[in-house]
Amino acid sequence: MSSSTGSGTTNGGISFWYADDGLPEPREPLSGDATADVVIVGGGYTGLWTAYYLKKAAPFLRVTVLEQKFCGYGASGRNGGWLYNGIAGRDRYAKLHGHEAAVRLQKAMNETVDEVVRVTAEEGIEADVHQGGVLEVAYTPAQLARLKAFHEHELSYGEKDRELYGARETVERVRVADAVGSTWTPHGARLHPVKLIKGLAAAAEALGVTIHEKTPVTEIRPKHAVTPYGTVRAPYVLRCTEGFTASLKGQKRTWLPMNSSMIATERLTPEQWATIGWEGRETLGDMAHAYMYAQRTADDRIALGGRGVPYRFGSRTDNDGRTQQATIDALHEILVRFFPSLAGVRVAHAWSGVLGVPRDWCATVTLDRSTGLGWAGGYVGSGVATTNLAGRTLRDLIQQDSGQAGPTDLTALPWVDHKVRKWEPEPFRWLGVQGMYATYRTADRRELTTHSAQSSRLARMADRVAGRH
Ligand SMILES: Cc1cc2nc3c(=O)[nH]c(=O)nc-3n(C[C@H](O)[C@H](O)[C@H](O)COP(=O)(O)OP(=O)(O)OC[C@H]3O[C@@H](n4cnc5c(N)ncnc54)[C@H](O)[C@@H]3O)c2cc1C
Repeated sequence: MSSSTGSGTTNGGISFWYADDGLPEPREPLSGDATADVVIVGGGYTGLWTAYYLKKAAPFLRVTVLEQKFCGYGASGRNGGWLYNGIAGRDRYAKLHGHEAAVRLQKAMNETVDEVVRVTAEEGIEADVHQGGVLEVAYTPAQLARLKAFHEHELSYGEKDRELYGARETVERVRVADAVGSTWTPHGARLHPVKLIKGLAAAAEALGVTIHEKTPVTEIRPKHAVTPYGTVRAPYVLRCTEGFTASLKGQKRTWLPMNSSMIATERLTPEQWATIGWEGRETLGDMAHAYMYAQRTADDRIALGGRGVPYRFGSRTDNDGRTQQATIDALHEILVRFFPSLAGVRVAHAWSGVLGVPRDWCATVTLDRSTGLGWAGGYVGSGVATTNLAGRTLRDLIQQDSGQAGPTDLTALPWVDHKVRKWEPEPFRWLGVQGMYATYRTADRRELTTHSAQSSRLARMADRVAGRH
């Protein structure tokens, strides 16, 4: 499943988090036709949070999760462990539904970070959670201009506790080379993604949720989830398959599967940490167009990811996270760009996973009342917290539809029942996204070399072409 490259880097093996915590022994597959009240396709955070909250609210419901490999095989077992309050599409929802609606969505996201922290504590899930907030750093004049605009923009959504730091205050927290400023929000925590998914699956199971692993669903239609081992019939069928959605019948152009890749260093020594700081263990990001995200792990490594690197189109041939050498080199370069003193540090592990990207880059949660089909996803790169909000919202939508409860604050949020057009057919969608990321990389390089405070026009153009604005 994994291999060691010449440089001693383990490549693939799903993710570093599994190398650290161990691959699970898969649960039994479905063994024939079955019935349920709610059947959930996909055992990632979305599917399992939904199952968890449904069972908590209505213990009599028969909830079944069908997972093609094992819970956490997808992005939920491979991510950067940034539990934070970002949600893909908020600004667009402000345009479509008004500023006040988007402020409610933002507030719900802020609360979601606390909710995940609360449930992990309540359920005894040891997921290395550390609530140090999110620090986003600028290291060029153009990034600083974007950082200030971003900071003001976030304040306008009611984030009164966000802070803006100058160069000195930034390096007092984390000694990022050439840092010129940063913005920090308390609404974020670092966690160990695999410890969270394993704990969540166990908590859902303890409540009585049935989980079948090694059970791929080949087709979803109203009241049916079809697998090679039998069909599960249920009034509600929920699709929670994110980056893998394109492989389901009829869903090829729904969400584009986009790769994101990560590296984890070997454990750093106390002397190395002394040159970096980072004692607050904030999740750390930057303001580049092809941005990076990083965390200081509980065992004192740096896990760092980004999308400004070559990526492979399509999730059809996911090869357990194996990553191209050029991508590993590009991420290592970012690490050294941030912390030059780490130039000699070994990359212990590299891996990749798939995100789901809708045509308008807006996350959604939907229950079609006429068919009983529901889905949530399209989180792009912000799903660790958003999946929890999606799970609670799907619970409320089902309770409302089945007459067990009325509308709630969550069912009134602007991302509920959002419709978006499909992606262009191939090869246009592949070419479009490939071109967009090549443009981001060029824009970042140009900003570094020119030291201009103006954001590159190229990047703004790429945003528009890709449908991000
Ligand atoms: C490398 C990487 C880093 C990331 N970092 C962050 C981060 O730091 N912070 C953040 O907020 N977000 C991050 N994300 C995004 C976040 O991880 C995802 O948005 C989130 O995990 C999505 O959860 P999900 O349950 O919807 O999808 P997934 O976790 O992908 O789960 C979908 C599940 O469905 C299963 N499945 C798919 N098709 C079928 C089928 N036909 N039948 C049965 N089962 C099926 C899959 O095996 C999988 O287990 C990152 C993503 C990646 C890839």
